Amino acid sequence: MQHRLLARQLQRLMGNDFLPDERWNSFLQLISNYYHEVDRERGLLENALEVNSDELTFANAQLRSKAEHEKALLHSFTNSIPDLFFAKSLDGIYMGCNKTFERSLGLSETDIVGKTDAQLLSADRVESVRDIEKKVLATNQPIVMEEWITHPDGSKFCLEMLRAPYYGVDGKPLGLIGIGRDITQRRELEEQIRLSALVYQHTAEGMLVTDPDYQIIDINPACARMTGYELEEVRGKNPDMFNSGRQDAAFYELIRETVSQIGYWNGEVWDRRKNGEIFAKSMVVNRLMGDDGKVHGYVMLFSDITEKKQADDMIWRQANFDMLTGLPNRRMLREQLEHEIRQADRARCSLALLLIDLDHFKEINDTLGHLVGDVLLVEAARRISACTRESDTVARLGGDEFTVILSRVTDPTHVEVVAQKIIQRLAEPFQLGDSVVYVSASVGITMYPQDASEVEELLKSADQAMYVAKRQGRNRFSHFTQGLQTAAQERLRLISDLRSAIVENQFHLHYQPTVDMATGHIRMAEALLRWDHPTRGIVMPSDFIPLAEETGLIVQIGDWVFREAAKWAGRWNDFLPGGFQVCVNASPVQFRAEGAASQQVWIEYLKDHAIPGKCIVIEITEGVLLNADTDVFEILKNFRNAGMKVAIDDFGTGYSSFGYLNKFEIEYLKIDKSFIHVLSNTALCEAIIVMAHKLGLQVIAECVEEQLQAEMLDKAGCDFVQGYLYSRPILAEQLDAILRHGAMGR
Ligand code: C2E
Ligand code: CA
Ligand code: CA
Repeated sequence: MQHRLLARQLQRLMGNDFLPDERWNSFLQLISNYYHEVDRERGLLENALEVNSDELTFANAQLRSKAEHEKALLHSFTNSIPDLFFAKSLDGIYMGCNKTFERSLGLSETDIVGKTDAQLLSADRVESVRDIEKKVLATNQPIVMEEWITHPDGSKFCLEMLRAPYYGVDGKPLGLIGIGRDITQRRELEEQIRLSALVYQHTAEGMLVTDPDYQIIDINPACARMTGYELEEVRGKNPDMFNSGRQDAAFYELIRETVSQIGYWNGEVWDRRKNGEIFAKSMVVNRLMGDDGKVHGYVMLFSDITEKKQADDMIWRQANFDMLTGLPNRRMLREQLEHEIRQADRARCSLALLLIDLDHFKEINDTLGHLVGDVLLVEAARRISACTRESDTVARLGGDEFTVILSRVTDPTHVEVVAQKIIQRLAEPFQLGDSVVYVSASVGITMYPQDASEVEELLKSADQAMYVAKRQGRNRFSHFTQGLQTAAQERLRLISDLRSAIVENQFHLHYQPTVDMATGHIRMAEALLRWDHPTRGIVMPSDFIPLAEETGLIVQIGDWVFREAAKWAGRWNDFLPGGFQVCVNASPVQFRAEGAASQQVWIEYLKDHAIPGKCIVIEITEGVLLNADTDVFEILKNFRNAGMKVAIDDFGTGYSSFGYLNKFEIEYLKIDKSFIHVLSNTALCEAIIVMAHKLGLQVIAECVEEQLQAEMLDKAGCDFVQGYLYSRPILAEQLDAILRHGAMGR
């Protein structure tokens, strides 16, 4: 009965995992039996010493064998548990122990049994152990307590010691047993947890714990302070509730992706506090994996780095920007230039470096003072910036020197246009307080990779070019290389020549006959522009039309072409029985705002000269239709109303689509020469002709040079042909003679 009670007490104290109820029971039974026998044996032996009879020796032998048996059982039992075990008599003498206990003392059982603690333990322990054991025996109650013990090898460990009395069959206590468990690891772990909890609560780092679905389980006080939210407000929510919107969804997706792949992410994140304020934090996200290989959750550790960022930003700005104008400084310009050079290499295009020097700035600074000079520089910076694109870089090199990097230059004219614009803007008056000041600028232009391939070289050559501009009288730009300079001057000269060409009547038209395939008669002619340059001779359209388009001169030139062509068209149409049409090329520029006014003038011209509209065909390119806005619709409609026809030139070279041809009323399609000249394109030609006919369009084939091509086109059902095979472009008078002769002959 006593045993069962004790067994339950022990079990409660030591925890369920130690031993089940019944085994405790039998264990204690065994202990009491054994030590009871041992005790009796000792009593008998003592008697035997006195009596020393044979009978008694026999009885003693019997008893001893029973005791041996129980001892063996007990040993095997006590050695099967990992905890240390010992038994003592009421007067504190060791009666037995298990292997674990032996190891804890570094002694064997034979050295231990029969001894007391006083002989085995260190002096300081003896006393405390004696006090506890006295209490156990006096109260008849087991006691559990923790003891830190030093191993013989010097290592420390923590024991959870249970001491309990054991009883004889008569229910009287025989002594006490001790069972001790090494809980060093558990204690250390608990200590760690305690420390971690302390850290968690008191650290300045924000911590946030989520479950595997990224739902917030816990935040620490630092996190609450940083975000302005209490735990109750965020529990169960997703940490993306803190997103500031400065970083896009893909950024957060990348974090999760990285954590799910390598279990870890760190970086900088912009969050929003409860009060709406945005702050920067440096964050580490860690995945928590269980021993089962499953994700148990995520821990995010972060610190507020807003102030640090602001400070860094300030330092960075001071190092890289000019404080007066806010523009990048020389250092930043170098960096940017290097970057742009790499970009240009990759895109296989050029970049331009403009060095701008304000003329006579020093005088202004000296006469009006530095403060006024500063205001002028700020305003100059603003004006220069306004002349460039977002992607260009404007920098201040110091003093009155500015630079502009024009990235991705595909058209060198663009560079000059910008340089000219800057010069113009800077030449406008500066209102500085009460005084109005005038400055001008000299600009040096250098190109990468044409002029130089290194940052330093580029800066130097831009500088040299700028001095050339200054020498030439300031308020102008200059290119670095002689070659480029010559080409640029050439262009400028050609442009200025072009302007006088109109006034000086240097243009004339050639007409290339267009033949009706069915009859072999010339039914149309295309007007092609020629420029009789006073010194260069005949200049072909490909050499000056692009310049005319860039400068807008094409509008004026186009007007002249139209009137000239219409004049002849009217004449030829009059005397030829079947009528006659002249095709006039029109540039896309003529359909833009600056050219649109001409259309009405043309129509008036036809009316005034009694020329029927139907003898004019306007040739436009696909691009005009593709970028068609209402204005183009309007213009084409006006042409139609005036009886004029429209042809699509160079068909097939642009974004060819029959789809949009349908939307406009087009009469003719001119197949581009690239289709005619490559015989393998026969099938394509056929297809275009078939499609065009389906849409009610007639087809003209251009640049037919060979009989074979003509035959192919005939077979394919082409309506008109034009090309060197029939005639080169010729003068109006020549065509006139042919037509009259032919007309007379018919
Ligand atoms: P385009 O409209 O495609 O004109 C056809 C070009 O092919 C003309 O070159 C013509 O001389 C040439 N050509 C004619 N037959 C043959 C041939 O059998 N073989 C070869 N290889 N070429 C042939 P051109 O006269 O030098 O004109 C070039 C371009 O200039 C024209 O191409 C047109 O786009 C433009 N252009 C000409 N005159 C004017 C004009 O008055 N105004 C506008 N805006 N552009 C014009
Ligand atoms: Ca044409
Ligand atoms: Ca053409």
